Amino acid sequence: MDHILVIDDSRAQAEYLKSILKKDYEVTTCQKGEDGLNLAKTGHFSLIFLDIIMPEMDGFTLLRRLQETVVTKYIPVILITGLSDVQHEERGLTLGAVDYITKPFSPITVKARANTHIKLFHYQMHFMKQAMVDQLTGIANRRRYKEYSMAKWREAGRLGLPFTVCIFDIDKFKLYNDTFGHPAGDKVIAAVANTASTYLQRATDFLARYGGEEFVAIVVGMEAEAAFHYFKKIRKAVEELHIPHNSPVSEWVTISIGGITLVPRNDDIYDNYLKIADNMLYDAKENGRNRVVWSNGDNEQWREK
Ligand code: GH3
Ligand code: MG
Ligand code: MG
Repeated sequence: MDHILVIDDSRAQAEYLKSILKKDYEVTTCQKGEDGLNLAKTGHFSLIFLDIIMPEMDGFTLLRRLQETVVTKYIPVILITGLSDVQHEERGLTLGAVDYITKPFSPITVKARANTHIKLFHYQMHFMKQAMVDQLTGIANRRRYKEYSMAKWREAGRLGLPFTVCIFDIDKFKLYNDTFGHPAGDKVIAAVANTASTYLQRATDFLARYGGEEFVAIVVGMEAEAAFHYFKKIRKAVEELHIPHNSPVSEWVTISIGGITLVPRNDDIYDNYLKIADNMLYDAKENGRNRVVWSNGDNEQWREK
């Protein structure tokens, strides 16, 4: 059941709205803007009814705060206004409210508007998610990777944590397509994504399809050598899927992985390190494929085989 938040300094009015909506929705009420903001940040709500005139934090200020906060900016807000509040309605809609209801309410109108805006909210969330997901594999796409990598890179720098980025590439995949056909190749890409993602399940792990038959993974909080050993397991797990291939590398489909682990410093540029991961991948390819090569961003390297 969807959750609705009602923020109104008049308890009687909030309770009245709740009585109208509670048959179809879970309704939480509160009397202060500050409390409303904190509740909204929990991410539980699909719709907010907001009174404009309130002591302390008024509805406009709260509306602006909701819009400025990542977790609350997409929650639709319906304003509660009085009959003589035309200017308030206009200002509220300009500030990003989706709709308004005028006191005294008609229960049928209130319900109909709640239903409509909750439905639209779900559509919007669905399409926003779709826009971040790779259709073939169901993992994150490159667009999502770009956002995520920059945010995590900065966070790791701030917290002084080791940050890992690595690139996987399927070995001799052109030959695979030529031999088994493009649709079979697509299945291999999905299988590799699926296998890698079972090893990258922690909240701080991330896997995206970077393009074609390449993937990029991010891990935070693991030291370089441990990361090297961990990604060897993933490389091995792909080999052990035993997907038949006819390549000079192996009778099975294999991947090569190039990675780097380091604690980001303030003046470091992310792309320089991604480039190093790419160089490590190139190294793995040059030295026979189906292997992992790792750097710590300084002089140390780890290589498989
Ligand atoms: P290497 O071991 O050096 O990586 O060799 P490779 O053949 O894998 O490398 P190359 O970059 O020459 O070829 C990549 C191939 O991946 C070419 C392209 O046909 C295939 N490919 C890219 N995207 C897709 C896709 O979405 N589906 C399928 N089936 N194949 C794809
Ligand atoms: Mg490639
Ligand atoms: Mg390849």
